[in-house]
Amino acid sequence: MFCLFYLQAKEALENGEVPVGCLMVYRNEILGQGRNEVNETKNATRHAEMVAIDQVLKWCHEKGRDRKEVFEHTVLYVTVEPCIMCAAALRLLNIPLVVYGCQNERFGGCGSVLNISQDDLQHTGTPFQCLGGYRAEEAVELLKTFYKAENPNAPKSKARKKQ
Ligand SMILES: [Zn+2]
Repeated sequence: MFCLFYLQAKEALENGEVPVGCLMVYRNEILGQGRNEVNETKNATRHAEMVAIDQVLKWCHEKGRDRKEVFEHTVLYVTVEPCIMCAAALRLLNIPLVVYGCQNERFGGCGSVLNISQDDLQHTGTPFQCLGGYRAEEAVELLKTFYKAENPNAPKSKARKKQ
């Protein structure tokens, strides 16, 4: 079931969004599934993780569950390293573990740009564990497909010279 988050990323791609997908799993139960909804909602904060967090909050509300206890036992699976904004949100919610695909060189909050997940930050939630590299190539391929399609007029990129 943990590959469902790659299906979410593909769905994002099909809908003209940066292909990032995620799952939030609490004690082997999927409580949240998200993908980027930034373009659709015209809201730059609607990253996959934020969408999934909202679903978990809704679930807690509907079931009358303690959201603190739930998030403290919830693992996030996401195709791309969470950005700085999402990493901070995950930390504030005390999520213990994030499993991700590829690194996010431009915006990554789990070591690539800032290390929100591990830094000693006062009054800012709990540091969390990150395991990167899970099906990373697939995550990168999805991103490449998106950026190629988004900018068809881009000069046949430098990356190609490698071939
Ligand atoms: Zn994010």
